Amino acid sequence: MEIIHVSAECYPMAKTGGLADVVGALPKYQNKLGHFAKVVMPMHRTKFLYDNEWEVVHKGSFSMGTFYYDFTIIKEKTNKLDFDLYCVDINGMLDRERVYGYDDDTERFTAFQIAVLEWVSRWEHRPDVINCHDHHTALIPFMLHYCYSYNHISTIPVTLTIHNAQYQGWMGWNKGTYLPAWDSWRWGMLEWDHTINPLACGIKCADKVNTVSPGYMDELMREANGLEALFNYERGKCSGILNGIDYAVWNPGTDTYILDNFTEKDYDAGKLLNKKQLCREFGFDAELPLFIFIGRLVGEKAADLLPEAIIRMYAEAKDQFSFLILGSGEPAVEQELTALNNRWVGYYNSRMEYNEKLSHQMYAGADFLLMPSRVEPCGLNQMYAMRYGTVPIVRRTGGLSDTVKDYGEQNGYGICFNNASVDDILHSMRRALELYHDTKKLNEVRLAMMQIKNSWEVSAQRYIDLYSSIQ
Ligand code: ADP
Repeated sequence: MEIIHVSAECYPMAKTGGLADVVGALPKYQNKLGHFAKVVMPMHRTKFLYDNEWEVVHKGSFSMGTFYYDFTIIKEKTNKLDFDLYCVDINGMLDRERVYGYDDDTERFTAFQIAVLEWVSRWEHRPDVINCHDHHTALIPFMLHYCYSYNHISTIPVTLTIHNAQYQGWMGWNKGTYLPAWDSWRWGMLEWDHTINPLACGIKCADKVNTVSPGYMDELMREANGLEALFNYERGKCSGILNGIDYAVWNPGTDTYILDNFTEKDYDAGKLLNKKQLCREFGFDAELPLFIFIGRLVGEKAADLLPEAIIRMYAEAKDQFSFLILGSGEPAVEQELTALNNRWVGYYNSRMEYNEKLSHQMYAGADFLLMPSRVEPCGLNQMYAMRYGTVPIVRRTGGLSDTVKDYGEQNGYGICFNNASVDDILHSMRRALELYHDTKKLNEVRLAMMQIKNSWEVSAQRYIDLYSSIQ
Protein backbone atom coordinates (compact mmCIF):
# COMPACT_ATOMS: atom_id res chain seq x y z
CA MET A 1 0.00 0.00 0.00
CA GLU A 2 1.30 3.48 -0.80
CA ILE A 3 0.61 5.82 2.12
CA ILE A 4 1.21 9.57 2.27
CA HIS A 5 1.43 11.07 5.74
CA VAL A 6 0.89 14.83 5.70
CA SER A 7 2.03 16.58 8.86
CA ALA A 8 3.39 19.86 10.25
CA GLU A 9 6.07 18.02 12.24
CA CYS A 10 8.20 14.90 11.88
CA TYR A 11 11.11 13.81 14.08
CA PRO A 12 14.02 14.46 13.56
CA MET A 13 13.32 17.15 10.94
CA ALA A 14 11.14 19.27 13.26
CA LYS A 15 9.63 18.48 16.64
CA THR A 16 7.62 20.35 19.24
CA GLY A 17 5.89 17.33 20.79
CA GLY A 18 4.37 13.90 20.34
CA LEU A 19 3.06 14.56 16.82
CA ALA A 20 6.64 14.60 15.54
CA ASP A 21 7.51 11.35 17.33
CA VAL A 22 4.50 9.58 15.83
CA VAL A 23 5.03 10.83 12.28
CA GLY A 24 8.75 10.03 12.56
CA ALA A 25 8.03 6.44 13.60
CA LEU A 26 4.73 5.21 12.13
CA PRO A 27 5.85 5.28 8.44
CA LYS A 28 9.06 3.47 9.33
CA TYR A 29 7.11 0.63 10.91
CA GLN A 30 4.58 0.59 8.07
CA ASN A 31 7.47 0.15 5.65
CA LYS A 32 8.78 -2.71 7.78
CA LEU A 33 5.40 -4.37 7.25
CA GLY A 34 6.03 -4.20 3.51
CA HIS A 35 4.19 -1.00 2.63
CA PHE A 36 5.46 2.17 1.03
CA ALA A 37 4.85 5.03 3.45
CA LYS A 38 6.22 8.53 3.00
CA VAL A 39 5.94 11.85 4.82
CA VAL A 40 5.26 15.32 3.39
CA MET A 41 5.82 18.31 5.67
CA PRO A 42 6.66 22.03 5.45
CA MET A 43 10.31 22.89 4.89
CA HIS A 44 11.06 24.43 8.28
CA ARG A 45 14.56 25.87 8.65
CA THR A 46 15.92 23.34 11.13
CA LYS A 47 19.30 21.76 11.78
CA PHE A 48 18.17 18.58 10.04
CA LEU A 49 17.48 20.57 6.87
CA TYR A 50 21.00 21.95 6.76
CA ASP A 51 22.72 18.72 7.86
CA ASN A 52 21.26 16.63 5.04
CA GLU A 53 21.25 16.50 1.27
CA TRP A 54 18.07 17.16 -0.66
CA GLU A 55 16.96 16.89 -4.26
CA VAL A 56 14.22 18.84 -6.00
CA VAL A 57 11.44 16.53 -7.16
CA HIS A 58 8.73 18.96 -8.22
CA LYS A 59 8.11 22.63 -8.87
CA GLY A 60 4.68 24.18 -9.18
CA SER A 61 2.52 27.17 -8.43
CA PHE A 62 -0.96 27.98 -7.20
CA SER A 63 -3.03 30.95 -6.18
CA MET A 64 -4.51 31.44 -2.74
CA GLY A 65 -7.07 34.23 -2.62
CA THR A 66 -5.46 37.12 -4.45
CA PHE A 67 -1.91 35.82 -3.87
CA TYR A 68 0.13 33.70 -6.18
CA TYR A 69 2.78 31.31 -4.89
CA ASP A 70 5.54 29.21 -6.39
CA PHE A 71 6.43 26.08 -4.45
CA THR A 72 9.12 23.43 -4.57
CA ILE A 73 9.02 19.87 -3.24
CA ILE A 74 12.37 18.56 -2.06
CA LYS A 75 13.23 15.03 -0.96
CA GLU A 76 15.86 13.85 1.51
CA LYS A 77 18.32 12.04 -0.71
CA THR A 78 19.54 9.05 1.28
CA ASN A 79 16.35 7.67 2.85
CA LYS A 80 18.13 7.87 6.20
CA LEU A 81 14.87 7.78 8.17
CA ASP A 82 13.79 4.49 6.55
CA PHE A 83 11.00 6.34 4.75
CA ASP A 84 10.95 9.00 2.05
CA LEU A 85 10.76 12.46 3.56
CA TYR A 86 9.48 15.28 1.36
CA CYS A 87 9.36 18.94 2.32
CA VAL A 88 7.32 21.71 0.76
CA ASP A 89 9.16 24.99 0.32
CA ILE A 90 7.16 28.14 -0.24
CA ASN A 91 9.58 31.00 -0.20
CA GLY A 92 9.06 33.34 2.76
CA MET A 93 6.12 31.35 4.10
CA LEU A 94 7.19 27.91 5.26
CA ASP A 95 10.97 28.33 5.47
CA ARG A 96 11.03 29.61 9.03
CA GLU A 97 12.76 28.47 12.20
CA ARG A 98 9.74 27.73 14.35
CA VAL A 99 7.03 25.28 13.40
CA TYR A 100 4.11 27.34 14.77
CA GLY A 101 3.43 30.62 16.48
CA TYR A 102 3.41 33.09 13.58
CA ASP A 103 0.59 35.56 12.93
CA ASP A 104 0.09 34.11 9.46
CA ASP A 105 -0.06 30.43 10.52
CA THR A 106 -3.50 30.12 8.88
CA GLU A 107 -2.11 31.28 5.55
CA ARG A 108 1.05 29.17 5.97
CA PHE A 109 -0.71 25.88 6.64
CA THR A 110 -3.46 26.49 4.09
CA ALA A 111 -0.80 27.15 1.46
CA PHE A 112 1.08 24.01 2.58
CA GLN A 113 -2.01 21.85 2.11
CA ILE A 114 -2.79 23.32 -1.31
CA ALA A 115 0.81 22.71 -2.42
CA VAL A 116 0.60 19.07 -1.30
CA LEU A 117 -2.57 18.50 -3.32
CA GLU A 118 -1.22 20.39 -6.32
CA TRP A 119 1.75 18.03 -6.30
CA VAL A 120 -0.19 14.79 -5.72
CA SER A 121 -2.74 15.77 -8.37
CA ARG A 122 0.06 15.75 -10.94
CA TRP A 123 1.29 12.23 -10.17
CA GLU A 124 0.82 9.69 -12.88
CA HIS A 125 -0.43 7.13 -10.39
CA ARG A 126 -2.80 7.29 -7.44
CA PRO A 127 -1.58 6.63 -3.87
CA ASP A 128 -3.67 4.20 -1.80
CA VAL A 129 -4.34 6.56 1.07
CA ILE A 130 -3.57 10.02 2.42
CA ASN A 131 -3.23 10.13 6.21
CA CYS A 132 -3.61 13.71 7.52
CA HIS A 133 -2.40 14.60 11.00
CA ASP A 134 -4.11 17.27 13.16
CA HIS A 135 -5.81 20.49 12.11
CA HIS A 136 -2.88 21.84 10.10
CA THR A 137 -3.64 19.24 7.44
CA ALA A 138 -7.35 18.69 8.09
CA LEU A 139 -8.62 20.80 5.16
CA ILE A 140 -7.15 18.25 2.75
CA PRO A 141 -10.17 15.87 2.91
CA PHE A 142 -12.49 18.80 2.06
CA MET A 143 -10.29 20.09 -0.77
CA LEU A 144 -9.88 16.61 -2.17
CA HIS A 145 -13.62 16.06 -2.32
CA TYR A 146 -15.02 19.49 -3.12
CA CYS A 147 -12.41 21.66 -4.90
CA TYR A 148 -12.99 21.37 -8.66
CA SER A 149 -9.32 21.21 -9.58
CA TYR A 150 -8.88 17.96 -7.61
CA ASN A 151 -11.92 16.15 -9.07
CA HIS A 152 -9.69 13.60 -10.77
CA ILE A 153 -8.09 12.53 -7.46
CA SER A 154 -11.17 12.91 -5.27
CA THR A 155 -11.53 9.16 -4.79
CA ILE A 156 -8.21 8.76 -2.99
CA PRO A 157 -9.15 7.44 0.48
CA VAL A 158 -8.23 9.93 3.19
CA THR A 159 -7.96 9.53 6.95
CA LEU A 160 -7.46 12.06 9.74
CA THR A 161 -5.41 11.24 12.83
CA ILE A 162 -6.14 13.51 15.79
CA HIS A 163 -3.19 13.97 18.13
CA ASN A 164 -4.83 16.85 19.98
CA ALA A 165 -8.40 18.09 19.56
CA GLN A 166 -7.91 21.18 21.73
CA TYR A 167 -6.35 23.02 18.80
CA GLN A 168 -8.72 23.26 15.84
CA GLY A 169 -7.22 25.92 13.53
CA TRP A 170 -10.31 28.18 13.58
CA MET A 171 -10.31 30.76 10.79
CA GLY A 172 -12.77 33.47 9.78
CA TRP A 173 -15.12 33.00 6.84
CA ASN A 174 -13.27 35.80 5.05
CA LYS A 175 -10.50 33.24 4.54
CA GLY A 176 -12.77 30.83 2.69
CA THR A 177 -11.46 32.39 -0.51
CA TYR A 178 -8.02 30.93 0.21
CA LEU A 179 -9.21 27.49 -0.86
CA PRO A 180 -9.11 26.66 -4.58
CA ALA A 181 -12.57 27.13 -6.18
CA TRP A 182 -14.95 24.83 -4.29
CA ASP A 183 -18.54 23.69 -4.54
CA SER A 184 -20.32 26.37 -2.52
CA TRP A 185 -23.23 24.01 -1.76
CA ARG A 186 -20.73 22.32 0.57
CA TRP A 187 -20.07 25.33 2.79
CA GLY A 188 -21.61 23.43 5.70
CA MET A 189 -18.66 21.06 5.65
CA LEU A 190 -16.32 23.93 6.53
CA GLU A 191 -18.61 25.54 9.08
CA TRP A 192 -18.65 25.02 12.85
CA ASP A 193 -19.93 27.66 15.22
CA HIS A 194 -19.84 30.51 12.68
CA THR A 195 -16.23 29.99 11.66
CA ILE A 196 -14.32 27.73 9.37
CA ASN A 197 -13.10 25.01 11.71
CA PRO A 198 -10.46 22.90 9.93
CA LEU A 199 -10.47 20.12 12.52
CA ALA A 200 -14.27 19.83 12.45
CA CYS A 201 -14.14 19.93 8.66
CA GLY A 202 -11.58 17.10 8.62
CA ILE A 203 -13.77 15.01 10.90
CA LYS A 204 -16.76 15.53 8.58
CA CYS A 205 -14.93 14.94 5.30
CA ALA A 206 -12.34 12.23 6.06
CA ASP A 207 -13.26 8.63 5.34
CA LYS A 208 -11.97 7.54 8.76
CA VAL A 209 -10.91 9.44 11.86
CA ASN A 210 -8.70 8.12 14.62
CA THR A 211 -7.21 9.44 17.82
CA VAL A 212 -3.89 8.31 19.29
CA SER A 213 -5.47 6.22 22.05
CA PRO A 214 -8.87 4.54 22.54
CA GLY A 215 -9.36 6.28 25.90
CA TYR A 216 -8.99 9.71 24.28
CA MET A 217 -11.65 8.94 21.66
CA ASP A 218 -14.06 7.97 24.47
CA GLU A 219 -13.30 11.25 26.22
CA LEU A 220 -13.86 13.31 23.07
CA MET A 221 -17.42 11.98 22.89
CA ARG A 222 -18.00 13.84 26.18
CA GLU A 223 -15.56 16.76 26.08
CA ALA A 224 -13.90 17.94 22.88
CA ASN A 225 -13.52 21.70 23.11
CA GLY A 226 -16.89 22.26 21.43
CA LEU A 227 -16.84 19.29 19.02
CA GLU A 228 -18.52 16.67 21.25
CA ALA A 229 -21.73 16.62 19.20
CA LEU A 230 -19.74 16.18 16.01
CA PHE A 231 -17.73 13.27 17.41
CA ASN A 232 -20.96 11.62 18.50
CA TYR A 233 -22.58 12.17 15.12
CA GLU A 234 -19.55 10.76 13.30
CA ARG A 235 -18.82 8.00 15.82
CA GLY A 236 -19.30 5.31 13.15
CA LYS A 237 -16.05 6.27 11.47
CA CYS A 238 -14.10 7.10 14.63
CA SER A 239 -11.68 4.86 16.53
CA GLY A 240 -8.58 5.05 18.70
CA ILE A 241 -5.19 3.51 17.93
CA LEU A 242 -2.62 3.63 20.70
CA ASN A 243 0.77 5.12 19.81
CA GLY A 244 3.85 2.98 20.13
CA ILE A 245 7.46 3.69 20.98
CA ASP A 246 10.12 3.94 18.32
CA TYR A 247 12.64 1.52 19.78
CA ALA A 248 15.29 2.73 17.33
CA VAL A 249 15.22 6.09 19.15
CA TRP A 250 13.95 5.25 22.64
CA ASN A 251 16.00 2.29 23.76
CA PRO A 252 18.13 2.51 26.93
CA GLY A 253 20.27 -0.28 25.52
CA THR A 254 21.44 1.76 22.53
CA ASP A 255 20.55 5.41 23.28
CA THR A 256 23.58 7.54 22.38
CA TYR A 257 22.38 10.52 24.43
CA ILE A 258 22.78 8.74 27.77
CA LEU A 259 25.99 8.06 29.69
CA ASP A 260 25.54 4.38 30.35
CA ASN A 261 23.39 2.02 28.31
CA PHE A 262 21.36 -0.57 30.18
CA THR A 263 18.71 -3.24 29.66
CA GLU A 264 16.21 -5.13 31.81
CA LYS A 265 19.10 -7.32 32.95
CA ASP A 266 21.39 -4.61 34.35
CA TYR A 267 19.06 -1.68 34.86
CA ASP A 268 20.00 -1.29 38.51
CA ALA A 269 23.63 -0.35 37.91
CA GLY A 270 22.85 1.35 34.60
CA LYS A 271 20.19 3.65 35.94
CA LEU A 272 22.34 4.55 38.93
CA LEU A 273 25.23 5.70 36.75
CA ASN A 274 22.88 7.86 34.69
CA LYS A 275 21.29 9.23 37.84
CA LYS A 276 24.68 10.11 39.32
CA GLN A 277 25.68 11.96 36.18
CA LEU A 278 22.39 13.90 36.07
CA CYS A 279 22.56 14.72 39.80
CA ARG A 280 26.16 15.91 39.43
CA GLU A 281 25.09 18.27 36.67
CA PHE A 282 22.34 19.80 38.81
CA GLY A 283 24.07 19.57 42.19
CA PHE A 284 21.59 17.00 43.57
CA ASP A 285 22.24 14.17 46.02
CA ALA A 286 21.96 10.91 44.02
CA GLU A 287 20.87 9.02 47.16
CA LEU A 288 17.54 10.86 47.19
CA PRO A 289 14.61 9.95 44.95
CA LEU A 290 14.61 12.10 41.83
CA PHE A 291 11.29 13.33 40.39
CA ILE A 292 11.09 14.90 36.95
CA PHE A 293 8.57 16.68 34.74
CA ILE A 294 9.17 17.01 30.99
CA GLY A 295 6.76 18.75 28.67
CA ARG A 296 4.89 21.77 27.49
CA LEU A 297 4.10 24.09 30.39
CA VAL A 298 0.44 24.58 29.54
CA GLY A 299 -2.95 24.04 31.15
CA GLU A 300 -3.53 20.74 29.34
CA LYS A 301 -0.49 19.31 31.10
CA ALA A 302 -1.65 20.90 34.40
CA ALA A 303 1.75 22.63 34.56
CA ASP A 304 0.09 25.50 36.48
CA LEU A 305 -0.28 23.11 39.45
CA LEU A 306 3.45 22.39 39.64
CA PRO A 307 4.67 25.46 41.56
CA GLU A 308 2.18 25.02 44.42
CA ALA A 309 2.67 21.25 44.50
CA ILE A 310 6.43 21.67 44.66
CA ILE A 311 6.29 24.36 47.35
CA ARG A 312 3.98 22.26 49.53
CA MET A 313 5.97 19.09 49.03
CA TYR A 314 9.22 20.78 50.02
CA ALA A 315 7.48 22.27 53.07
CA GLU A 316 6.48 18.76 54.07
CA ALA A 317 9.52 16.70 53.08
CA LYS A 318 12.47 18.99 52.49
CA ASP A 319 15.78 17.10 52.19
CA GLN A 320 13.92 13.93 51.17
CA PHE A 321 13.75 14.27 47.37
CA SER A 322 15.00 16.20 44.34
CA PHE A 323 12.87 17.64 41.53
CA LEU A 324 14.00 18.60 38.03
CA ILE A 325 11.79 20.26 35.41
CA LEU A 326 12.40 20.55 31.67
CA GLY A 327 9.84 22.42 29.63
CA SER A 328 8.64 25.57 28.03
CA GLY A 329 5.27 27.18 27.58
CA GLU A 330 3.14 29.75 29.36
CA PRO A 331 5.36 32.63 30.50
CA ALA A 332 3.70 32.92 33.93
CA VAL A 333 4.36 29.24 34.72
CA GLU A 334 7.91 29.47 33.39
CA GLN A 335 8.54 32.45 35.65
CA GLU A 336 7.14 30.77 38.75
CA LEU A 337 9.15 27.60 38.19
CA THR A 338 12.34 29.52 37.48
CA ALA A 339 11.85 31.66 40.58
CA LEU A 340 12.00 28.49 42.67
CA ASN A 341 15.52 27.65 41.44
CA ASN A 342 17.19 29.66 44.20
CA ARG A 343 14.89 28.43 46.93
CA TRP A 344 16.03 24.83 47.36
CA VAL A 345 19.47 24.83 45.80
CA GLY A 346 20.74 21.26 45.63
CA TYR A 347 17.20 19.86 45.64
CA TYR A 348 15.29 21.62 42.90
CA ASN A 349 16.10 22.95 39.46
CA SER A 350 14.35 23.79 36.23
CA ARG A 351 15.33 24.35 32.62
CA MET A 352 12.93 26.40 30.56
CA GLU A 353 13.96 25.16 27.15
CA TYR A 354 13.48 22.41 24.60
CA ASN A 355 16.36 19.98 24.93
CA GLU A 356 16.12 16.56 23.31
CA LYS A 357 19.39 15.24 24.76
CA LEU A 358 18.61 16.30 28.31
CA SER A 359 15.15 14.73 28.04
CA HIS A 360 16.72 11.34 27.26
CA GLN A 361 19.15 11.74 30.16
CA MET A 362 16.28 12.59 32.48
CA TYR A 363 14.19 9.56 31.46
CA ALA A 364 17.26 7.41 32.06
CA GLY A 365 18.44 8.94 35.34
CA ALA A 366 15.20 9.75 37.19
CA ASP A 367 13.18 7.61 39.58
CA PHE A 368 9.73 9.14 38.99
CA LEU A 369 8.11 11.09 36.14
CA LEU A 370 5.15 13.28 37.07
CA MET A 371 2.31 13.76 34.53
CA PRO A 372 -0.74 15.37 36.15
CA SER A 373 -2.29 16.17 32.72
CA ARG A 374 -5.83 17.49 32.44
CA VAL A 375 -5.92 16.24 28.83
CA GLU A 376 -3.60 13.58 27.41
CA PRO A 377 -4.49 12.25 23.94
CA CYS A 378 -1.92 9.47 24.30
CA GLY A 379 1.14 10.73 26.10
CA LEU A 380 4.51 9.41 25.09
CA ASN A 381 6.54 10.59 28.08
CA GLN A 382 5.09 7.93 30.37
CA MET A 383 5.89 5.22 27.81
CA TYR A 384 9.47 6.44 27.40
CA ALA A 385 9.84 6.70 31.18
CA MET A 386 8.67 3.11 31.67
CA ARG A 387 11.04 1.88 28.98
CA TYR A 388 13.88 3.56 30.91
CA GLY A 389 12.78 2.13 34.27
CA THR A 390 11.36 5.42 35.58
CA VAL A 391 8.04 5.07 37.40
CA PRO A 392 5.29 7.28 35.90
CA ILE A 393 2.97 9.16 38.26
CA VAL A 394 -0.03 9.95 36.11
CA ARG A 395 -3.54 11.31 36.29
CA ARG A 396 -6.06 8.80 34.99
CA THR A 397 -7.03 10.41 31.69
CA GLY A 398 -6.93 9.60 27.95
CA GLY A 399 -3.90 7.59 26.92
CA LEU A 400 -2.46 7.67 30.44
CA SER A 401 -5.33 5.45 31.60
CA ASP A 402 -4.70 3.16 28.64
CA THR A 403 -0.99 2.70 29.39
CA VAL A 404 -0.38 2.94 33.15
CA LYS A 405 -1.74 0.62 35.84
CA ASP A 406 -1.32 1.53 39.50
CA TYR A 407 1.18 -0.63 41.36
CA GLY A 408 -1.45 -1.22 44.04
CA GLU A 409 -3.48 -3.23 41.51
CA GLN A 410 -2.62 -6.76 40.48
CA ASN A 411 0.38 -6.68 38.09
CA GLY A 412 0.43 -2.88 38.33
CA TYR A 413 3.56 -0.83 37.70
CA GLY A 414 2.90 2.92 38.02
CA ILE A 415 1.25 5.44 40.30
CA CYS A 416 -2.18 6.74 39.27
CA PHE A 417 -4.48 9.41 40.66
CA ASN A 418 -7.88 10.77 39.66
CA ASN A 419 -7.95 14.55 39.91
CA ALA A 420 -5.74 17.21 38.39
CA SER A 421 -5.28 18.83 41.80
CA VAL A 422 -2.37 19.72 44.06
CA ASP A 423 -3.70 17.41 46.78
CA ASP A 424 -3.77 14.42 44.44
CA ILE A 425 -0.24 15.21 43.24
CA LEU A 426 1.03 15.42 46.82
CA HIS A 427 -0.68 12.18 47.79
CA SER A 428 0.94 10.43 44.83
CA MET A 429 4.37 11.88 45.58
CA ARG A 430 4.08 10.56 49.14
CA ARG A 431 3.26 7.13 47.74
CA ALA A 432 6.29 7.46 45.46
CA LEU A 433 8.56 8.20 48.42
CA GLU A 434 7.23 5.10 50.16
CA LEU A 435 7.82 3.00 47.07
CA TYR A 436 11.34 4.36 46.70
CA HIS A 437 12.26 3.08 50.14
CA ASP A 438 10.73 -0.35 49.48
CA THR A 439 13.60 -1.52 47.29
CA LYS A 440 12.14 -4.94 46.59
CA LYS A 441 8.84 -3.56 45.36
CA LEU A 442 10.54 -0.77 43.42
CA ASN A 443 12.67 -3.29 41.58
CA GLU A 444 9.64 -5.44 40.78
CA VAL A 445 7.83 -2.40 39.41
CA ARG A 446 10.83 -1.29 37.36
CA LEU A 447 11.33 -4.69 35.82
CA ALA A 448 7.63 -5.03 35.00
CA MET A 449 7.59 -1.61 33.30
CA MET A 450 10.73 -2.18 31.29
CA GLN A 451 9.32 -5.41 29.92
CA ILE A 452 6.14 -3.83 28.60
CA LYS A 453 6.11 -3.84 24.81
CA ASN A 454 4.50 -0.64 23.60
CA SER A 455 5.85 -1.44 20.19
CA TRP A 456 4.83 0.33 16.99
CA GLU A 457 4.57 -2.98 15.13
CA VAL A 458 1.07 -3.72 16.42
CA SER A 459 -0.19 -0.15 16.07
CA ALA A 460 1.29 0.27 12.58
CA GLN A 461 -0.73 -2.78 11.49
CA ARG A 462 -3.89 -1.25 13.03
CA TYR A 463 -3.40 1.82 10.81
CA ILE A 464 -3.05 -0.48 7.81
CA ASP A 465 -6.29 -2.24 8.77
CA LEU A 466 -7.96 1.17 9.00
CA TYR A 467 -6.78 2.11 5.51
CA SER A 468 -7.82 -1.30 4.14
CA SER A 469 -11.36 -0.76 5.41
CA ILE A 470 -11.79 2.22 3.04
CA GLN A 471 -10.19 0.83 -0.13
P1 ADP B 1 2.50 16.56 23.55
O1 ADP B 1 1.10 16.80 23.98
O2 ADP B 1 3.39 17.69 23.93
O3 ADP B 1 2.65 16.16 22.13
P2 ADP B 1 3.46 13.87 24.21
O4 ADP B 1 3.61 13.20 25.53
O5 ADP B 1 2.62 13.19 23.20
O6 ADP B 1 2.97 15.36 24.49
O7 ADP B 1 4.92 14.05 23.56
C1 ADP B 1 5.86 14.87 24.11
C2 ADP B 1 7.18 14.65 23.40
O8 ADP B 1 7.90 15.88 23.44
C3 ADP B 1 8.08 13.64 24.09
O9 ADP B 1 8.98 13.09 23.15
C4 ADP B 1 8.84 14.52 25.10
O10 ADP B 1 10.05 13.93 25.53
C5 ADP B 1 9.08 15.74 24.23
N1 ADP B 1 9.27 17.00 24.96
C6 ADP B 1 8.31 17.81 25.47
N2 ADP B 1 8.86 18.90 26.01
C7 ADP B 1 10.20 18.79 25.84
C8 ADP B 1 11.32 19.61 26.18
N3 ADP B 1 11.16 20.79 26.80
N4 ADP B 1 12.55 19.18 25.82
C9 ADP B 1 12.71 17.99 25.18
N5 ADP B 1 11.69 17.18 24.84
C10 ADP B 1 10.46 17.58 25.16
